[in-house]
Amino acid sequence: MKTMEPRAREEVSQSDQTHTSMRTDCQGMPPLTARLEPWMTAPGTISQLHRLVQEYDSPLNLIHTDPFLRNIDALYQVAESHQVDFDVYFARKANKCLAFIDAAHSRGCGIDTASENELHQVLEQQVPSEKIICTAAVKSEALLQACIVSGTTVAIDNPDELSRTALLSARLDRQAEIALRISGFQHDGHKLPSRFGFDIEKILPLLRDLQQSAPNTLQTLNLTGVHFHLDGYSQAQRISAIRQLLPLVDQLRDMQFPIRFIDIGGGFPMSYLDSETEWNEFWMIHKQALLDRQEPLTWQNHGLGLQRVEDRLIGKPHCYPFYQSLVQADWFNGILSALYETGTIASALRKRTLQLRCEPGRSILDGCGITAARVESRKQQSNGDWLIGLSMNRTQCRTSSDDFLVDPLLIPAMDESPLPRTPPGTSGFLTGAYCTESELLCLRKLQFARGVGIGDLIIFPNTAGYFMHFLESRSHQFPLAKNLVYYPQTGEYHLDAIEAP
Ligand SMILES: *Cc1c(COP(=O)(O)O)cnc(C)c1O
Repeated sequence: MKTMEPRAREEVSQSDQTHTSMRTDCQGMPPLTARLEPWMTAPGTISQLHRLVQEYDSPLNLIHTDPFLRNIDALYQVAESHQVDFDVYFARKANKCLAFIDAAHSRGCGIDTASENELHQVLEQQVPSEKIICTAAVKSEALLQACIVSGTTVAIDNPDELSRTALLSARLDRQAEIALRISGFQHDGHKLPSRFGFDIEKILPLLRDLQQSAPNTLQTLNLTGVHFHLDGYSQAQRISAIRQLLPLVDQLRDMQFPIRFIDIGGGFPMSYLDSETEWNEFWMIHKQALLDRQEPLTWQNHGLGLQRVEDRLIGKPHCYPFYQSLVQADWFNGILSALYETGTIASALRKRTLQLRCEPGRSILDGCGITAARVESRKQQSNGDWLIGLSMNRTQCRTSSDDFLVDPLLIPAMDESPLPRTPPGTSGFLTGAYCTESELLCLRKLQFARGVGIGDLIIFPNTAGYFMHFLESRSHQFPLAKNLVYYPQTGEYHLDAIEAP
């Protein structure tokens, strides 16, 4: 014991030191400091990373399912504290790795699928069909058939889908399990616009019409749930939507539809940063820069959604809100605690014996992934900025929003390169492998306290939710990044099953 103790302390301080220098060696100007999970910067991970990138090539995605399970458990705990019957259906389009499906299944959760291949893969992982929903935006006959044959619930988006599902299920002589996707909720005096789902004011007349004119259509369908998924991360909008759905559930039950659940979709918010101050300061300075009152913070003074018109700025940030104060389980708790009828939304669900379902993707992948890429070149622009070329393209850490507003980390090369590092304090931009002028991996200017060398690794933290896979492409015939799963028992990384031929 006596000899163990000082060594343990030494290891901790050494890892703290690595941890700090990984951050200070690559920092935004100004910094947007990433929230990290211990596994991401554990000495065991860092010491293997160069070897793994050598073996599997750059960029490389590393994932870990423990934080995923922790995030899911936190949601179940909230529901349990309100005694609400509750199930998570993980929206797997947010990350393609099968490890997350297995992890969700091991907890008894369901999976939300968005395409025929996603559905088949989930069925192949032995997830039972009553734990699968299909919310694909457009559904081919082959997909509808696969849902009906497997017993997967289809979230029906429109009248054509409803009729085609009914026809198919008559042909297959098998009832289809369906839920109705609803939209057009009133909120704050406005109707929330959406391209998805049936308008809440039109769905009952439509069903009454069908009951009269085509009763056979409805007989082949087992309508057991109502569903919505809203754009954005507003808690208040979801509370409005649930308050409008509960009376609809009552009316559907009056019409003899056996409604068992309401499904509130995803969009649970998360934070990539700990510091609200950093986040606000970044935007404050960025706005000054766009008005030419300050050095640009972004590549060619990119607005990130804001635009200068004379002496003012118009538009909205076109980026995920990387810092949010109310997130995940606390945000969810606020929904269940919201007032409704004489009690809360939770008590209204209990009273109706309704199951509450949700389909989070991004937020339950918080803490579950990193993307590592190798530095191949450095060159200085005539204005002094450095361009750091990485073996990676921008679809490999990108969503539909303008930028990844989280500082990457830097791990120096293991072997000394014959080419010297750039000078300490070098600043500039990370550039990618697609041959367009706009191919930047981060639009923000970064500073490298100890310079940058060939063979250094840049780590993009917390990329499991969407960033790794949502937009990844194979342009120029680059192969897709490999995905490795962390096994904490052995400290080893192995290919995710999605990589199997
Ligand atoms: C994308 C999507 C989700 C997941 O949304 P997150 O923002 O990742 O939580 C859930 N349900 C549907 C229908 C979706 O399209």
